[in-house]
Amino acid sequence: HSQPAARDRVAIVGGGLAGSLLALALAQRGVGVDVYERRPDPRDGRAEGGRSINLGLSKRGIQALTEVGLIDEVMPLTVTMSGRVIHAPDGSTRFQPYGKDGGEVLHSIDRNELNRLLLDHAQRHPQVRLHFEHRLNRIDKATRELEFEHGGARVIARPAWVVGADGAFSRTRPQMQRGERADYHQEYLEWGYKELSLSPKPDGGSRIELEALHVWPRVHGFFVSHPNRDGSHTLTLFLPHQGPDSFDSTRTPEQIRALFDKYFPDLIPLLPNLVEDWASHPTGSLITTRTAPWSADDWIVLVGDACHAVYPFYGQGMNSAFEDCSALMAALHAHPRDRRAAFIAYEAARRPHTDTLAELSKANFVELKQKVQSFWFLARKRIDVTLNRLLPRTWLPLYTMIAHTTMPYGDALARSRRQEKIVLGAVSATALAAFGAGAWLLRAL
Ligand code: FAD
Repeated sequence: HSQPAARDRVAIVGGGLAGSLLALALAQRGVGVDVYERRPDPRDGRAEGGRSINLGLSKRGIQALTEVGLIDEVMPLTVTMSGRVIHAPDGSTRFQPYGKDGGEVLHSIDRNELNRLLLDHAQRHPQVRLHFEHRLNRIDKATRELEFEHGGARVIARPAWVVGADGAFSRTRPQMQRGERADYHQEYLEWGYKELSLSPKPDGGSRIELEALHVWPRVHGFFVSHPNRDGSHTLTLFLPHQGPDSFDSTRTPEQIRALFDKYFPDLIPLLPNLVEDWASHPTGSLITTRTAPWSADDWIVLVGDACHAVYPFYGQGMNSAFEDCSALMAALHAHPRDRRAAFIAYEAARRPHTDTLAELSKANFVELKQKVQSFWFLARKRIDVTLNRLLPRTWLPLYTMIAHTTMPYGDALARSRRQEKIVLGAVSATALAAFGAGAWLLRAL
């Protein structure tokens, strides 16, 4: 379709994960939607170089996919991950289940496959029109026009209202905030990432435990891997951008092999194409962004990474972007005649919690690189799981609340702090009681 959005239709800038889901959700409520995506249609095979990049889908994302009626189609595309397999430097492994029972699992899904499925369903809906290779250039808030670049030509759209779902490097956000007293904060991690692929065995079986997230925790750099349905795994290496043993200093085949000899010797036999893959896969950067406001008047609103990009260490970027879509739909439903009020209510309901998520995601960076192999961390995890088993209604580990419930992120963190206080209180009370009993015994003797 090439007709631009008309006054009675909504324009969504960005047909990624959040944009395509929201297009469907709005269409299901009877709203006409035009989606403008910068890239070519990912379903025609030209877009990605056949690489599979996968993400962990958890409760919040599942909830949003359930609301649009797609979860039964998404689940068969996933591989269940029932816990983490920790790979120690000596090659030994240890399994840490995610929760106390089999219900608390994550689902690994190929991001392109999920995006294609969402676009397919959006396209099949008579209310949705998809416009690929349309890059947003400019927004004129006074005339309420969007300007796109399409094949060297300018396309002008005059939609009823606009959603910015154009990701961490959103163009909608700065255009929307031009001339406003807006806040914007961005922060790059000194570490970057590179994806490598671990092929299946010739018979299609997986070379490492299939139904788990694998972690190779090292203080200086670490791997996380998600499984694919064909028995392969997508490995993501997180490493400093600069300095010794960094992406910058690891370029030649000798340097690549030396890095793996030093930190990940057990991966060398599993990655026969390591040197070629290293050179051909780009090094990515990791960014956290925070901004306010998330909307302008009753005309533009932001969702997903466009208003809160987080580091990927809690596996919540997509999940929270999907949760935004549900929250925006709920706010529009609650304020049917006042879109501006809906946008404000949506931001008030979400922003404090996505701010918390940004902090949690930073904290999990330390956990993944270091703590998962420490004695204290493991002891803490065991206490968490044991308390959860003994007091299933009172004690919920923070990870459980984030990944396996839809409790707002800030509420989950506050509850986790309360729980900790109670347990620390109980531990010190027990210690005091023991001390008192000891003193009494000494006196009695
Ligand atoms: P995107 O998916 O980035 O979509 C934005 C879309 O907008 C893109 O299609 C882009 O082409 C388009 N666009 C951009 N600019 C323009 C423009 N000017 N005009 C038109 N279109 C435009 N999340 C999880 O939940 N679980 C995980 O396990 C997980 N792992 C991750 C691992 C890594 C290494 C990274 C980097 C991220 C990970 N994430 C994970 C985060 C997740 O990928 C993002 O949070 C999610 O993709 C955000 O969705 P979005 O729709 O907001 O943005």
